[in-house]
Amino acid sequence: MSAIKISIIDGGFSTQLSTHVGDKIDGDPLWTARFLATHPEAVMATHLDFLRAGAEIILTNTYQASIEGYAEHLDMTESESLHLIHKAVDLADEAVRIYMKETRSEERPLIAGSCGPYGASLHDGSEYTGSYAGSVTRGFLKEWHRPRIEALINSGVDILALETIPCATEAEALVELLKEYPSTKAWITFSCRTDGRSIVDGSDFRRTALASYKSAIPGQIVAVGINCIAPSIAASFFEGINDGEGFLPLVLYPNSGETYTVAEGWRKLGCEPQLENFIHQWLDLGVRYVGGCCRTGAKDVSKIKKEVEKWVGKKKRDSECC
Ligand SMILES: [Zn+2]
Repeated sequence: MSAIKISIIDGGFSTQLSTHVGDKIDGDPLWTARFLATHPEAVMATHLDFLRAGAEIILTNTYQASIEGYAEHLDMTESESLHLIHKAVDLADEAVRIYMKETRSEERPLIAGSCGPYGASLHDGSEYTGSYAGSVTRGFLKEWHRPRIEALINSGVDILALETIPCATEAEALVELLKEYPSTKAWITFSCRTDGRSIVDGSDFRRTALASYKSAIPGQIVAVGINCIAPSIAASFFEGINDGEGFLPLVLYPNSGETYTVAEGWRKLGCEPQLENFIHQWLDLGVRYVGGCCRTGAKDVSKIKKEVEKWVGKKKRDSECC
């Protein structure tokens, strides 16, 4: 039996970036995307922190980068905005180059182009509610996503991270749009409720995730899953999903278990167990891409990597002895 490949994704970009620029990121309408223009060296250093911690896939700092956002808050033209998105990929590329030189590693880490949902650009927390699901069309969402996706692809990203998607309509729009770029690979992660079964717009997670995977060009979507969810509830979405025939590769990068509201910022809720305690359970359920989201940093990526290595080692021993 060949070894199962688990890919380690980086952690929360804003969390790690704040170790370089201080605590002035959350609450900014452009979030970390502003720092491409103001602190490019800190963006590069953040990528490097994650690579040194063991991330095999780093996400570009483009989650909240949009043409409208840059026009409104940085007074940029469309071509200046697109240039900044290119720059985000260049900064990730530069970090990979430095890391490869440092480690003389033969395996090049991958760069994933981060695409947050339309809601992230509205700066009203709607990526955590999906409140716009009924008021925008699939066609609108497709056109809204197109310029950034095209800029990321043209800049040479290895894969797209379509993340924190709060509604089924937006996933459908993205799958449709991806078909126009058939050689581009992507994963889709949804923004989910705490009920263990629904996307925040109320759609059934399993049905929507499976539909996205199956309606794409075969092989184009490498995994479907969830990001920015509390670690303790993540598994309930996946239980039994891979018990039948066929295998659905899953991607998961939860937050630290704290919750965020625009009004109050991040808030701790009780004693949430650390993310790394769940890794073996998630991998057993079919998670093949795993990392961290908000409030997780490079230290967490190291812990994730350690647990992944233990799990892979155990699987290998099990397959050799029986
Ligand atoms: Zn997050």
